[in-house]
Amino acid sequence: MFDLQSLIRPNIRSLKAYRSARDEFSGKAEVYLDANEKPTGDGLHRYPDSAQIELKTAIAQSRACSPESLFLGNGSDEVIDLLMRAFCNPGKDHIACFTPTYGMYRVSADIQDAHVVEVPLDASFHLPPLMQLPPEVFSAKLVFLCSPNNPTGNLLQREALLNLAKQCKGLVVIDEAYIDFTMESSLSWELKQYPNLVILQTFSKAWGLAGIRLGLGIARPEVIQILDSIRPPYNINSLTAERAKEALANQAEILIEVQDIIRERDRLSEALQSSGLVKQIWPSDANFLLVEFEEADAVFQALLAQQIVVRNRSGQVPGALRITVGTAAENDALISALKVFEQTFYPSS
Ligand SMILES: *Cc1c(COP(=O)(O)O)cnc(C)c1O
Repeated sequence: MFDLQSLIRPNIRSLKAYRSARDEFSGKAEVYLDANEKPTGDGLHRYPDSAQIELKTAIAQSRACSPESLFLGNGSDEVIDLLMRAFCNPGKDHIACFTPTYGMYRVSADIQDAHVVEVPLDASFHLPPLMQLPPEVFSAKLVFLCSPNNPTGNLLQREALLNLAKQCKGLVVIDEAYIDFTMESSLSWELKQYPNLVILQTFSKAWGLAGIRLGLGIARPEVIQILDSIRPPYNINSLTAERAKEALANQAEILIEVQDIIRERDRLSEALQSSGLVKQIWPSDANFLLVEFEEADAVFQALLAQQIVVRNRSGQVPGALRITVGTAAENDALISALKVFEQTFYPSS
């Protein structure tokens, strides 16, 4: 059922990728006069490895996949953008996503002029039954699913995701930006049976490296080759590669920090539960909480006035603010700011 060649835009299928000086020569030499670099410097005077071999090998090891099934992007946002450009003919093709969800799928689709079919998640933010989905989902070039989902925080059911993937003609992109906060294993393990999966992960959340801009796509090598053929040759810079390799060498530390954040999330959730302003806290498998307030906009403004910024998602989920789990001190500051607001506006409670 899955026919990759028929999914690719014709102009991308016939594309001759730009070959940089370093693509033409990949061995080791004494004298490099091929790339118009300055001859001296601290290492950064040289272009990065455009094939990204060392970094791909290190990440592949950590994710237990092969380097050939790995794509590296300037953040996962770049991977989303390149998927859109490789597969969606502007003004013609469509993608599908399940709302409320991460906003970049629509932004990238709008830039590419791809039509977006939005299907609402059910009341507990899970996938509706397959039979209830519009046929446009199954015919979409790309179907975006985010698990754990942003901004709702919940994991989508694995079986439901895989059943959907089985029925889709296009690529099914599973955004696992928050997977490291869960006990669930990545759907990248299912690539053998589900050739149309593309898994997105990122160094921006659990790895604590949002500033270096590094995201990954894990997919069948033939899908990776398409993305590699259209990316800028040096999309991952040397400083990013270096910093990511350091982090990968200290993976054990990251795991401990993730556990701390999860403990803090559960403590914050309990403290919020006892606030008279809070109507509901959705269960979270991520490093944030989606919280329904009595007066979300007023709470949002009151927190801002106390120099605390949270994300107002009431446009997507009525009454909801999305609160990232901070340090214990930051979470305490949030809790006391809410108390101050509650006592000012509901003095009787
Ligand atoms: C934060 C986040 C990302 C990360 O994007 P980067 O470009 O890698 O920083 C991707 N997807 C979702 C759903 C996110 O919440």
